[in-house]
Order: sequence, then C-alpha cells, then structure tokens
Amino acid sequence: MVFKFPRVASPIFRRSFGFTRAVYKLQPSKKLTTPNGITYEQPTGLFINGEFVAARSGKEFEVISPSTEKKIVDLAEAGKEDIDDAVAAAKAATLAWEHVSVDERAGIIRNIAALIEKHKDTFAAVETWDNGKTLGMSSGDVEGVIGCFKYYAGFVGKHFGKVVDVDVDSFNYTRREPVGVCGMVIPWNFPLMMLAWKIAPALACGNTVILKSAESTPLTALLFASLMNEAGIPKGVVNIVSGAGEPGGYISAHPEINKVAFTGSTATGRKVLEASAKSNLKKVTLELGGKSPNIVFDDADFEQAIESVLIGIFYNQGEVCCAGTRLFVQAGIKEKFLEALKSRVDNITIGDPFDPNSFYGAQTNRQQFDKVMEYIDEGKNEAHILTGGHRRDGDGFFVQPTIFYDVKNNHKIAQEEIFGPVLAAITFNDVDEVIKMANDTPYGLAAGVHTTNLNRALYVANHLKAGTVWVNCYNVISHHMPFGGYKESGHGRELGAEVLNNYTEVKAVRIGQISSGIGVHK
Ligand code: NAP
Ligand code: MG
Repeated sequence: MVFKFPRVASPIFRRSFGFTRAVYKLQPSKKLTTPNGITYEQPTGLFINGEFVAARSGKEFEVISPSTEKKIVDLAEAGKEDIDDAVAAAKAATLAWEHVSVDERAGIIRNIAALIEKHKDTFAAVETWDNGKTLGMSSGDVEGVIGCFKYYAGFVGKHFGKVVDVDVDSFNYTRREPVGVCGMVIPWNFPLMMLAWKIAPALACGNTVILKSAESTPLTALLFASLMNEAGIPKGVVNIVSGAGEPGGYISAHPEINKVAFTGSTATGRKVLEASAKSNLKKVTLELGGKSPNIVFDDADFEQAIESVLIGIFYNQGEVCCAGTRLFVQAGIKEKFLEALKSRVDNITIGDPFDPNSFYGAQTNRQQFDKVMEYIDEGKNEAHILTGGHRRDGDGFFVQPTIFYDVKNNHKIAQEEIFGPVLAAITFNDVDEVIKMANDTPYGLAAGVHTTNLNRALYVANHLKAGTVWVNCYNVISHHMPFGGYKESGHGRELGAEVLNNYTEVKAVRIGQISSGIGVHK
C-alpha cells in the first residue's frame, strides 16, 4: 500500500485567487550590464500578483548609482492605488498559502534560497551598483540572505501551539496562526538582507506580504521578485513595490494590512506607529536607529580591539544601524590606542566599490552624503579631528574615514545618529562610569565590550541597555540570534526563533464537554 501525504494540489494554489486587476499594463524588464560586466534582465515594474506591471499613474523614478552619480535605469513608482492592488492580491492569496502543506511550503522557501544562490553573482553586482557598498560586502550579504531563507524554511510547521492542562473536564490547546497580510518597509543600507529578514519568517509562518524597498536601492528587491514564480510562490503571496516615502505611509495606514514590519530611522518609525494607531491598530515591529557604544578596557587584546573598532564603525561605510559609533577607550591606553587606530585607518583605501582593494565604497545617496558632511563640520566645533574630516575628491559620494577625539558624551556627534564613517572617541576611567555613559543615549540597539577579564565582561554585558552585546568582537550579526533594540531603537525583535511570534497570532481553544447525550463521559 502506498501512503499518500495530505497536501494541497499544486494546480489549485498556483492559480490567481479571485484577484483581478481591473486596468493594468505589463511592464517589460531592461537588459543591463553591471560595471563588472554581468549582463542581466532588470525588472522595472511593480511586482503585483505574480506580474511586473506599470504604476497605474504611469509614474517612474530614476535609480542612481552613488559611486558614479550616473543613472542606472527608470522604475515604476507605486502610488496609493498600486498599494491597494497589491494588498488585494495579498489578501486574496492568504487562505490558499495558509493551507499549502507544511512540506510544500518549506520546499518553496528552500527553492527561493537555491535560486538566489544560482544568481548570487548578479545579485551581488547589482547591489553594489545600486547601493555603493563594496562587492565583497554585497557578496557577504547575499550569502547571509541565502542562509536566512534556508534557516526559516526549517521552521515551517515547527512553531507549535501547546496542549495546556486546565481541568479534567475540558481539552485546551493553543494554535499559532498566520497574521495574514504583512506590510514591510525597508531602508537602503542592506537592501536584500532587510528583505530576507522580513520575508523569510513571514512566509514560513504562512503569511502573505507586500514589501516596499527604499527609493535609493530598489533593484535587488525586484530581481528577487523575478524568482518568485519559478520558486513556486503562488500569485499574490509576495508583492514588491518600489517608490519614495509615500507608499510606505500608505502601507502603514492601510486598513487591510494586519501587521507592519518597519526598518528605518526612529523619526519614520514614529510615523509608522502613529499611522497604525490612526488606522486599524495593525501590529507594528520597528527596527530603528542606534548610537552604540564600543568599550575598550586597558586589559583588552590590543590588536583585536583595534580591528573590532575599525569593523565596528567603518564596515559598510558606517551605514549600519548597530555601528559602534561611540568608542569608549580607558584612560590608561588612550594615547597608544588612538595612535594605533589612526595608523590602521590611514592605511585603508576607500573608493570604487568594484575594486577588491576598497575597504568601503560610497554613501548611498546625495542626501545621506550631505548629512554626514554636515555632522563632520559640526563635530569640528565640538571636538578634535584625529583623521579624515573630508569628502574624497572626484565623483561619487565618498567620505574619508573620520575620527574625532576628546569628545564628550553629551556632544551632538555623540548623541545623534550620523549613519556614516564617523567615530566619536570618548575617554573613561572606571567600569561604572563607562556603563553610565554608554547607556546615556535615547538608543539601545547594540554595544561592544573588549576585555580579557571574564568577570568584567559579564558585569558590563549585563548592565548595558542594548538588544545585542558583542564581547571581544563587533558587528557579527547572525540570523540565528534575535536582533532589535531597547528604548528608541525599536519595538520587538527580528531574526532567531523570536521573530516567529511577530508573524503569528496565538489562538486559545477550549473544548468543553457536551452536557447531555453521547458526549457525556459516564
Ligand atoms: P528612513 O528614511 O526612515 O526610511 C526607511 C524606509 O521608510 C524607506 O523605505 C522610506 O522610503 C520609508 N518611508 C519614508 N517615509 C515614510 C513614511 N512616512 N511612512 C512609512 N515609510 C516611510 O530610513 P533610511 O534613511 O532609509 O535608513 C536608515 C535608518 O535605518 C537608520 O536610522 C538606521 O539606523 C535604520 N536601520 C535600522 C536597522 C535595525 O535593524 N534596527 C537596520 C537597518 C537600518 P524612501 O526610501 O522612499 O525614503
Ligand atoms: Mg541607488
């Protein structure tokens, strides 16, 4: 006898679920060649219900490469009516996706990982072209994205409810059910990775999604969308739109979206929360900004601490939410440490992100570049420059690695998120003083501690108000561990098993006894 596993037949769930778009125009892709010579098809439309379509308004916007300041391509720009279409498609697909068998859903998510792997060189090159980060960085991001989809495929069907003993007369259990239509709004610093952190767990829990990429970095999200049909994602389950801030606002306020996952600045995060409160009280998770301390004690492994501080601030051009932007260095080693750090930093090359010798590339857009340069100018009035302090001559949004020293923790450059390659070095004397200063900020995303004294490491790690604490390392993010912030750095956690709670509702079921007839127990 052959045992048949119960499953939803593929032809049923691969069709379009009652969603029809009244007026639409398909939008063709464009053949492009990246600066490192990879020719590929770049989708240019909005990905709604399994197709790339033009915006209903017909509007488009330009995508600029920050390392050359030259245009790459024009893309469809989503408006309110396109968001309505995408939400309708996602809503229509909800029931069917929820009922796809556990094995089949896990298989589809694994297909996504395999397809990204197949095209990983293209993904990395396009990310670098669009974002300005080095090719090495983009390749690392793509590997992380592949791992993230594999990891969450493994959770499908394993985020269980419980059987709960309440009394002898009833049967009580909880179920974890999908939330439904999930909106996602992401920033430009890790475009593909931020997409993966949200879409992978959302799909694993049986939700449908509509994601808006950042205006400055929309290309890899559309490439990702172009793989959905081949992976076996039913139409309408994943919808991806491009555009400026406005569509993010529509998503936050949409009455038919059940949850929003937002990553971006604290200022925009407040608006998302407000839009939820004023619309349907959708669930909101927020991954926001930071001003993280990186603490070096005088007993730290000196060379290792130098590398950690360097990676902590200059990785990804400093465009990292958890960057170690405030260096706290103990007074006894201050001079030696800053001198060694300067000589290490003065030996790194910044420039063409496709050049393997570049340590970091260009800031992602002009607005961000101007903001960083303004902070550097203000910093010159507050503290002293150890190195850097200028833009790089020529085209492209390149900023020299910049270190300020003799900074006070209440200075503007030590309190506000700059989001660029700018480090504020502050001196401290003892453990409790540095813990107090480290926690004295509205943010609480991450922190670093460098010491060879285990007792001290434990004491400091347990007293820092931060979602992540790295001891003797920095910026080592893994999708197996929860990530998110205390205080104004956010609400909720992404990654790890923790994120699954954000994408599920808990239902409590009590089955009582029937008080007459066959159901009576004796
Ligand atoms: P942002 O300006 O807040 O933008 C983030 C996203 O929100 C973009 O897609 C943006 O669209 C969209 N948006 C703009 N206005 C909106 C509105 N009123 N309602 C809803 N969405 C809106 O942030 P960013 O400058 O792109 O990114 C940098 C920030 O992200 C930093 O503060 C960084 O710390 C934070 N970040 C946090 C994490 C974390 O995990 N905690 C990770 C990465 C980055 P446009 O692109 O069109 O403006
Ligand atoms: Mg760009």
